[in-house]
Amino acid sequence: MSNELLYEVKDLCKSYSNGSKSVDVLKGVNLRVGHAETVAIMGPSGVGKSTLLNILGLLDTPTSGQIRLDGINIHELNEVNQARTRNRRIGFVFQFFQLLPEFTALENVIMPGLIAGEHMHTLNATARELLAEVGLSDCSDRRPGELSGGEQQRVALARALVMNPDVLLADEPTGNLDPHTGEEIEKLMNKLNQVRNTTVIVVTHKESLAKAMNRRVGLVEGTLEELI
Ligand code: ADP
Repeated sequence: MSNELLYEVKDLCKSYSNGSKSVDVLKGVNLRVGHAETVAIMGPSGVGKSTLLNILGLLDTPTSGQIRLDGINIHELNEVNQARTRNRRIGFVFQFFQLLPEFTALENVIMPGLIAGEHMHTLNATARELLAEVGLSDCSDRRPGELSGGEQQRVALARALVMNPDVLLADEPTGNLDPHTGEEIEKLMNKLNQVRNTTVIVVTHKESLAKAMNRRVGLVEGTLEELI
């Protein structure tokens, strides 16, 4: 059964120790994100946006606080179930695409499914459909080095969605693209949200990308505030 909220984050704190010093990056973050919502997390460089996104994506652990994903307290899950949640319910897109250079676009898209133990036949069909959805039907056999930056990010988007996750977490997805290509990726993320009802949480310091989302929150001195 689906909960009304996809994410419910309470009092999240994260500190890093740098030698003898402790740096408090997140100091009580609260955030509620509904299913199919699109949210931009904004703020200048170094403020802790990636740290927060990585914690939301179960790539990092908070020092304290609570995250409920669809009503489930994710820190109460054992390691196997956390990995399963990360693999099946969360899709990631990064600034530098992070595709595997020796594999084709199609193979890159299939990869999360292979890790999850899905059948190759089904995966192949899903990956081809996704490549068509992101406008890359003709590029499935090309390796990342043979694709432009914008095309590589489209492949990364298709890869992020191959397990049909509840949420797409994107860390500066247009940060390495020219303005026009960045705008195309913005539009594509919105289209994917509308067609698939995938929740989108994007970290950015770019106004244009943030404005393309339903909602904007700012990370200021370790806590989040709603922006207009
Ligand atoms: P942003 O995404 O807003 O640019 P980050 O989340 O990358 O910010 O980093 C926030 C702060 O946390 C920075 O001061 C950074 O140096 C520090 N930081 C990030 N990761 C680590 C780490 N693994 N160890 C120590 N400090 C870190």
